[in-house]
Amino acid sequence: MKVVKFGGSSLASGEQLKKVFHIVASDSERKVVVVSAPGKRFSDDRKVTDLLIDCAEKHLSNEDASPTFNAIMARYESIVKELSISEDIIERISNDLQELLNGDKSKPESYLDAVKASGEDNHAKLIAAYFQHEGLNAHYVSPKEAGLFVSDEPGNAQVLPESYDNLFKLREKEGIIVFPGFFGYSKSGEVLTFSRSGSDITGSILANGVKADLYENFTDVDAVYSVNPTFVQSPKEIRELTYREMRELSYAGFSVFHDEALIPAFRAGIPVNVKNTNNPTAPGTKIVNNRAHTNGPVIGIASDKGFCSIYISKYLMNREIGFGRRLLQILEDYGLTYEHVPSGIDDVTVILRQYQFTDEVKEKVKDRILTELQADEVLIEENLVLIMVVGEGMRHNVGTTARASKALANAGVNIEMINQGSSEVSMMFAVKELEEKRAVQALYQEFFVSVPV
Ligand code: ASP
Repeated sequence: MKVVKFGGSSLASGEQLKKVFHIVASDSERKVVVVSAPGKRFSDDRKVTDLLIDCAEKHLSNEDASPTFNAIMARYESIVKELSISEDIIERISNDLQELLNGDKSKPESYLDAVKASGEDNHAKLIAAYFQHEGLNAHYVSPKEAGLFVSDEPGNAQVLPESYDNLFKLREKEGIIVFPGFFGYSKSGEVLTFSRSGSDITGSILANGVKADLYENFTDVDAVYSVNPTFVQSPKEIRELTYREMRELSYAGFSVFHDEALIPAFRAGIPVNVKNTNNPTAPGTKIVNNRAHTNGPVIGIASDKGFCSIYISKYLMNREIGFGRRLLQILEDYGLTYEHVPSGIDDVTVILRQYQFTDEVKEKVKDRILTELQADEVLIEENLVLIMVVGEGMRHNVGTTARASKALANAGVNIEMINQGSSEVSMMFAVKELEEKRAVQALYQEFFVSVPV
């Protein structure tokens, strides 16, 4: 049995939905189909989820939301027309959405989640109707009916463990199940969404729940590329990578597959196959537990912007009991999460995502570190990029770090920080944002183009 998930661009128009139908109908093992809301049809287009957020926010601030409402409905209408299915469904979607928008706004975050989730929910109903129209025995199943329960965290819900047993029962259902992605229900019956792009998470939870043999994740690229294609022309495609490698790459910007989505599939040992709706016969990329190491130490290079670092130095820091705890406590007091903490004898650097660090908080944090921890020096550096060089093969290869740093040095890139050691499958470099492209190109050249040493 396979769980198949289709992303927004695969479901953005009637033409795309026809491809989806053929993919589902061509393999009788594709029993559970998880769908996103309609995504972008072209690069400047807007996702239905973004339109829904816009619409809900306008309602919350009592602005005129009708143009956005009409834009949302126009998306469903054009799909229904293209597929020549009964237009009754449009009226149902319109009434449901209208009711939702006029609903209880006393908890704005819950209101927003309910409106956001309707994008997938309505699309799943529409797609089930289309599949039936084409003669498939397909049915919409709601996350409520299936018992997909999540924590009460709007916009960032986490699956509750009991859901898996509930979802296992879906195996008994006849025909094809069309299941909306991106949301579940709290125990008290409220709709809650996962983080953005969370339909991948739903697919993975379902794959775990029904104990699928494979989780196929259909998107709009032939494979996961070894490096961002906007930096390197036609980069090498990755055929197979491990969950750990994928986790590290998606952490630093590989957005093909949601990083939270790996966990449920990984726990149940279900392989994931990322495939292209527009080219379904291409083998895609498989994410597995173990792979053969035949292609050198590095499988992929990822980079992500928007980091900053706090460098702290204090003579004899290594002998001071509780220094690290007190430092991190200061960050906690301002609700800051940190990403990495590379350290030396008398110094430590904390790396954070910059968006959470306002000028005001920055000054306060700096001040407290100087006064409360009596640091000798505190330096904050902004606009950093983290580059992750990832590969399980690194464990068995000597000299990978040396090759990477030499490649960066030859390209004239100044390394602000190196972190290697805690993770066995990656090394991390921080460089200035302006040097990102040059650095990534140099590393790609070293590990994928030049003859391996
Ligand atoms: N439609 C949602 C989003 O745009 C979820 C998804 O597509 O996976 O974030």
